[in-house]
Amino acid sequence: MKRFAYVRVEDAGTALSWAAKGGRFKAGGLDLLDRMKRGTLAPELLIDLAGWKEARGIRTTEEGWSLGSLTTLADLAESGHGLPAGIREAAENTATPQVRNRATLGGNLCQTPRCWYFHDAEISCAKKGGAGCPAREGRNEGHAVLSYGECPAVQGGNLAPILCALGAWALGREADGASRRMPLADFCKALETDWDRAPLLLERIEVPKTFPGTSHVEVRHRDSFDWAVASAAVAMRLEGGRIAEVRAWLGGVAPGPWRAASVEKDLAGLDPKPGTFRKAAEAALREARPLSEGAYKVAMARHVLEKALERAAARAAEEGR
Ligand SMILES: Cc1cc2nc3c(=O)[nH]c(=O)nc-3n(C[C@H](O)[C@H](O)[C@H](O)COP(=O)(O)OP(=O)(O)OC[C@H]3O[C@@H](n4cnc5c(N)ncnc54)[C@H](O)[C@@H]3O)c2cc1C
Repeated sequence: MKRFAYVRVEDAGTALSWAAKGGRFKAGGLDLLDRMKRGTLAPELLIDLAGWKEARGIRTTEEGWSLGSLTTLADLAESGHGLPAGIREAAENTATPQVRNRATLGGNLCQTPRCWYFHDAEISCAKKGGAGCPAREGRNEGHAVLSYGECPAVQGGNLAPILCALGAWALGREADGASRRMPLADFCKALETDWDRAPLLLERIEVPKTFPGTSHVEVRHRDSFDWAVASAAVAMRLEGGRIAEVRAWLGGVAPGPWRAASVEKDLAGLDPKPGTFRKAAEAALREARPLSEGAYKVAMARHVLEKALERAAARAAEEGR
């Protein structure tokens, strides 16, 4: 590891002024320090955000919830703030207790794309400024099956799909210090192309209280200590026992959280009885384009989507009782 300087800041302005000098934000440091140890990143200065109080904690608001970007995944999983079940599930399914106690919401949203070639300092690839993609002719069982371009690395963060499904907003500061509020989906989209530069220094995430039925379902190779092969997050509202509104987003299958838009119209107005969701899940995955080893991922994504829809519908019905 190369030598680096370290500063600990207590406010966004100071963090940004160090960033303007080439510093790199550090939250829990899990993703960042891993890259530094592997030799794929060598910042000269780390800006530790841990002392920034405004970016901490969960608040309940009239409209819903405000989640500090420095909130740990353990706090999201275990908080007593009545957070939507889908957020709690996404957090508690992440990694291990040790990781959840350290990893922050902001770091989870901005974590590095997942690809073993990309994370190997010895291997050149387009994402690291080289040419071509070794995964295309090599090992690609963990790679994207939807909506990818030259690079099929996936974004594996668990929190983005459920927060996008809930229509969350990202609040933070631009590089010049200006405050900005943008849909979290746009924040995540920007990271797909400019993956190493978040469009904002994230302060808080606002989550509206619109959907009574929420869920996060994932499959992993291992029961713990692993990212999802595929995950699905759903937010649903029923009216008169029928589906009035539904949002479904997938994780681990595309370069960012992926909106299963067909589900929204396919399910609108339907009775959420058993069997309703399989067809919608199959239709959503019809545009998948797996690489040579990725076909199993399409089946997994279909499965988690169906299960997440069922679970969100049951919760929405329960809330309505
Ligand atoms: C064994 C293991 C298993 C894992 N399994 C999963 C899993 O199943 N699901 C999952 O989702 N994740 C998983 N992870 C990843 C883990 O959740 C992330 O590494 C962690 O959430 C990153 O958070 P952090 O606070 O440590 O971020 P850091 O490492 O501090 O930062 C990560 C990136 O985000 C940027 N950043 C941090 N905070 C901000 C901010 N406020 N504004 C702008 N940019 C910011 C940093 O500059 C850096 O680029 C796993 C990790 C490990 C080690």
